[in-house]
Amino acid sequence: MEIKDALIIGAGISGLLCAAELQKAGMRVLVLDKGRGPGGRMTTRRGMGSTRMDHGAQFFTVRHPRWQAWVDEMLRKGVAREWFRQAPWDNNPTGYPRYCGVDGMNAIPKYLARKLEVVCSTQVCSLQRTDGNWVAESLAGDRFIGRELVVSLPLPQAWTLLETSGTDWATKDTRAALRAVRYEKGLATLVQLKGPSAVPSPGFLKLKEEALVWIADNQQKGISKEPALTLHAGASFAARHWDTTDEERGGLMLEAAKPWLGEGVVKFTCHRWGFTLPLNPYKERYLRNSGLNLTLAGDAFGGPRVEGAALSGIAAAMALNSPQALS
Ligand SMILES: Cc1cc2nc3c(=O)[nH]c(=O)nc-3n(C[C@H](O)[C@H](O)[C@H](O)COP(=O)(O)OP(=O)(O)OC[C@H]3O[C@@H](n4cnc5c(N)ncnc54)[C@H](O)[C@@H]3O)c2cc1C
Repeated sequence: MEIKDALIIGAGISGLLCAAELQKAGMRVLVLDKGRGPGGRMTTRRGMGSTRMDHGAQFFTVRHPRWQAWVDEMLRKGVAREWFRQAPWDNNPTGYPRYCGVDGMNAIPKYLARKLEVVCSTQVCSLQRTDGNWVAESLAGDRFIGRELVVSLPLPQAWTLLETSGTDWATKDTRAALRAVRYEKGLATLVQLKGPSAVPSPGFLKLKEEALVWIADNQQKGISKEPALTLHAGASFAARHWDTTDEERGGLMLEAAKPWLGEGVVKFTCHRWGFTLPLNPYKERYLRNSGLNLTLAGDAFGGPRVEGAALSGIAAAMALNSPQALS
């Protein structure tokens, strides 16, 4: 079996950017993901006809030049575009760009994955150190070998997996700091409408109701030809309605969204998110155990959201290649 220079577990934005940077630096990398396609929390769902709905992350920002370089490339190639610049909650009167994928947020990870070896529908369930390499085994019993291992999963999932390796992957103090990182749960309701919504231009609203903190109009956003909304509930609502039926939780969210539903609803589906954002990310952009050739990355490291995860992936790649990590 081929031994890769690096195995990366998780094809979210952090894992993909880490892989892309390592591949640019000449390393042979393999990315494994349990999902049907790459993207993790940057996902876009198809509905009836030509309906498309961004389901997790809705937009992203760019502040750091290393992430800016990637976004500039995707803007040039027509993969990303600016959705809006000013939001009512901005302190800065001129705002700053919020970007999205041209045909949905999943366009971004798909673009990053196109030149990488990414194996999807492969849930890694155990890790071992053998002869100085890492061996990742999937639920289906497939084995993958790499000299370096990058784990770019939400922290509780990374923890569970790393514990299978029987290694001392982090010191007691680091473990305590990682244990303290908390995530919010989420609940999304995807709604296909009979006609255009009443959400004002450019197609989003941030609200303060427990059942509804965000509405996005995927048609105004330009990703769906048919009228369709994405509704996100607050974390406490999501936790309380984790196990209720779609009729109940979706019904309550639709009730809260009533003023913006236009001519009414054709169909809706609900989706639970076990991890939306880390509330208190670990202070560094990555965690590296060079003795074990092990690096942890993801939005739990250094900063939440798409941009934080992207910077974590880039920083993790730099840490593998040079001691000068991104700050
Ligand atoms: C509802 C919601 C709304 C959000 N809104 C925004 C927003 O508007 N703007 C913003 O910037 N951010 C937003 N975020 C946060 C943003 O999506 C995340 O911070 C970012 O995408 C995280 O990327 P990541 O690479 O760290 O992790 P992920 O995207 O979670 O990637 C981890 C990957 O690991 C895979 N995986 C897990 N376990 C295994 C395993 N055992 N084996 C193999 N693969 C595995 C998963 O399938 C997944 O693809 C939102 C998130 C959610 C859920």
